[in-house]
Amino acid sequence: MVVDTEVVNSITTESRKPEVSENRIDVKNLSHAYPERRALENVSFSVSSGEIFGLLGPNGSGKTTLFKILSTLIPITSGTAHILGYNLATEVRMIRDFLGVVFQHPGLDGKLTIVENLRHHGHLYGLSGKTLHHRISELLECFGVADRAKEHVEILSGGLKRRVEIAKALLHTPRVLMLDEPTSGLDMTARQQLNNYLGALAQTQDILVLMTTHLLEDAETCDRVGILDDGRLVALGEPDELKAEVGGDVILIETTDSDILGTAITERFGISTALTDDGLRLECERGHEFVRDVVATFPDEIQSIRFGKPTLADVFIKLTGNPFQERKDRQN
Ligand code: ADP
Repeated sequence: MVVDTEVVNSITTESRKPEVSENRIDVKNLSHAYPERRALENVSFSVSSGEIFGLLGPNGSGKTTLFKILSTLIPITSGTAHILGYNLATEVRMIRDFLGVVFQHPGLDGKLTIVENLRHHGHLYGLSGKTLHHRISELLECFGVADRAKEHVEILSGGLKRRVEIAKALLHTPRVLMLDEPTSGLDMTARQQLNNYLGALAQTQDILVLMTTHLLEDAETCDRVGILDDGRLVALGEPDELKAEVGGDVILIETTDSDILGTAITERFGISTALTDDGLRLECERGHEFVRDVVATFPDEIQSIRFGKPTLADVFIKLTGNPFQERKDRQN
C-alpha cells in the first residue's frame, strides 16, 4: 500500500481552530467507578502531538471507560485530564471543537454514498460549498478511497468503511483523533493498511492520535502504549522499551506433567517457570543455548519447545502475573 504523504501533508488547516495552549493530553490520577464496579484507578499518562498512543488491555480492563471519559461521553469524576490545555471537567465544549472521534459501532449510512456521508457530516460542523468540497476531496485522496467516492457505503469492505469513518472524523480538522478499537472486525491486511494510514497521518499532521485496542499486533504499531489491567495502568512506554524490560528470550515448553518438569528445570537450571495456557513458560538469557541444554537434559519429558523474543503479552505477564486474556469482573 502506498500512503500519499504529500496528500496527507496537504490537508488544509484553513478551518483550523484558534491556537491551543498545549499540544498534548495530560491525564492525572483518573479514577472511575460505576455504581457496582470500579473501572479505573489512578490512571496517569500523557500524549504528545505527532504520536500514536495506544491503550492496550484485555477485555474488562477499562479501555472503553477511559475512552468515553476522554472523548467527553461520560463526565470525569475523579482525577484530572487536560486536552490541548483545556480542562476536561470544565471546558468540554472547547475540547469537542478539537476532537475527532471514531467509535467501534459504524457511524456511516450504508444507503448513502461515501461522498454523501461526508457531505452530511460536514454540514453538521457548519462546513459547506467549496471549502467542504475541497476538504472531502483531500480526505478521500488521503485515505485511498477517492475512486470509490460515489459508491454506496453498504457495499464497501470493512477496511474501506473504517477508512471512510476516519476521514469523516477528520472533516472538521480536529487536533486530536480518538479511535475505539479501530481495527476490530478487520482482517490482517485491512488492519495493517489502517495502521499504516494512521501512522502517516500522525507523522505528517499536527495531530494527536489515541486509540484503544485489545490486539497486541496493533499496540506494536503505536509510538507508545499504556497497558491497562483491571483498571490500573501497569506499563507505559514505547513497545520496544517495554519488551526490553522483560529481557532475554521467552521459552514455552509443552509437556505431559508441567508441575514435575517445572520443578526439575528450576532445580537443574535455577530458572523459575510459570504454567500458562500455552505451556510451561520461562524467561532466560541466551535462549538458544538453554533450549539445547534443556532438551538434552529432559529428552523424554519435553514434547515441544519454542523460543522467541518477548512480546507485549510477555510484558503483561511479567507485570501482572496473569496471561493477556479476559479478566473476570470484580466488585468495588
Ligand atoms: P474494556 O473496554 O477494557 O473491555 P470497560 O471499560 O468496558 O473495559 O469495562 C471496565 C469495567 O467496568 C468492567 O468490569 C466492566 O464490566 C465495567 N463496566 C463497563 N461499563 C459499565 C457500566 N455501564 N456499568 C457498570 N459497569 C460497567
